[in-house]
Amino acid sequence: MKNSAEIVIIGGGISGLATAYNLAARGMKDIIVVERGYIASGSTGRCGAGIRQQWGTEMNCRLSKASCEILENLEEILDYKRSIEFKQGGYLLFATTEKEVEQFKKNVALQNSLGINSKILSIEEALEIVPDMNTEGVMSFAFHQKDGHANPFQTTFAYAEAAKRLGVEIYTYTTVRGIEVKNDRIESVITDKGEIKTHRVLNAAGGFAKDIGRMVGVELPLKPERHEILVTEPVETILGPMLMSFSWNFYIQQEPNGTFIMGYGEQDNPESQGVNSSWHFAQEMARKAIRIYPPLSKVRVVRQWAGLYTMTPDSQPIYGSVPGLDGFYIAAGFSGHGFMFGPITGVLMAEYILGEEPEIPIDMLDAGRFERGELIYEPSVV
Ligand SMILES: Cc1cc2nc3c(=O)[nH]c(=O)nc-3n(C[C@H](O)[C@H](O)[C@H](O)COP(=O)(O)OP(=O)(O)OC[C@H]3O[C@@H](n4cnc5c(N)ncnc54)[C@H](O)[C@@H]3O)c2cc1C
Repeated sequence: MKNSAEIVIIGGGISGLATAYNLAARGMKDIIVVERGYIASGSTGRCGAGIRQQWGTEMNCRLSKASCEILENLEEILDYKRSIEFKQGGYLLFATTEKEVEQFKKNVALQNSLGINSKILSIEEALEIVPDMNTEGVMSFAFHQKDGHANPFQTTFAYAEAAKRLGVEIYTYTTVRGIEVKNDRIESVITDKGEIKTHRVLNAAGGFAKDIGRMVGVELPLKPERHEILVTEPVETILGPMLMSFSWNFYIQQEPNGTFIMGYGEQDNPESQGVNSSWHFAQEMARKAIRIYPPLSKVRVVRQWAGLYTMTPDSQPIYGSVPGLDGFYIAAGFSGHGFMFGPITGVLMAEYILGEEPEIPIDMLDAGRFERGELIYEPSVV
């Protein structure tokens, strides 16, 4: 293990590894990524891996559009010989209340103004895309063909392998235990395998980013929450788009290998770093899924698991640094959409750390916005 670095990145998920690659690609040397498990062992490897550009805030639309454009060419950009299994089958969003119908109209107008070609569909139009779904109680739909899904492991491995080729060192099964600060400047990172002298740290620790903040005396407004998900046996391809409802609270998608992946968010989820599975979730998810998409009644569940959403008070990420503490950077608080933001997170954080102008201005997503009361609420989240 090296004992010094230009930067230590804590977290070997999509955020940490995409940033490591982008820093190295821009010429930074001596980059170390420290990951306490294996690559993508955190939320990244436990996520639904859905990718959508249909958001309700300009910031989220711009972040996800930029990410999607990178994902469309990622194998080439990273010279990855395997496939990241990027499928653009669209997202079909259910509007089930008058309020949601109006919100979707506003969202689509915003998205169209930013070059995202989403549209409102009638029930009949939606049934042409997914003939077997149950539309009882649905008022209309929003649809965007370029939304989709990618394999979160392959995507993260692609970044890790490209980063390694550029000289990045990735230490897996290595846990950060503390961070030394002297005169408001980062001095070193203490791991269970030794100390690394450095003046820069990126906190990309997902559901544990709050704990990393506390190591330098910073209280980040992050709330890790347990979210469950399940996957079925593979069957022939019958469902093109992701089916999703914010008001009915579910998402269901068929992956390229034929399995269905699905989840929903519990109401009033308490703060937790636990990742145990529950029978309640399996039962409730099956009930929802069969009601929405009846062909699923014949498909068997093969596995369920849980992972962490890291929530902020406005469901938007925290990007940036902390005033008064030199060299401490944050890319965390991605709620349920940090995988799809991963590619652009890597670009923006690399630009920010190198003192360049980020290609999408991210200053409004700094950690200080909560104290200033300048929250940017995202209305369209599961
Ligand atoms: C059930 C579920 C479904 C989801 N569905 C989607 C979806 O459809 N689309 C989407 O875009 N997003 C989705 N998400 C959210 C997405 O998974 C996360 O936002 C994203 O993966 C965050 O990536 P990350 O790299 O920031 O964090 P992580 O992937 O969690 O990586 C952080 C890493 O830091 C490591 N770490 C923590 N503490 C330490 C330490 N002290 N020392 C060393 N290493 C440490 C962890 O082991 C972890 O691997 C979902 C999440 C869940 C749980």
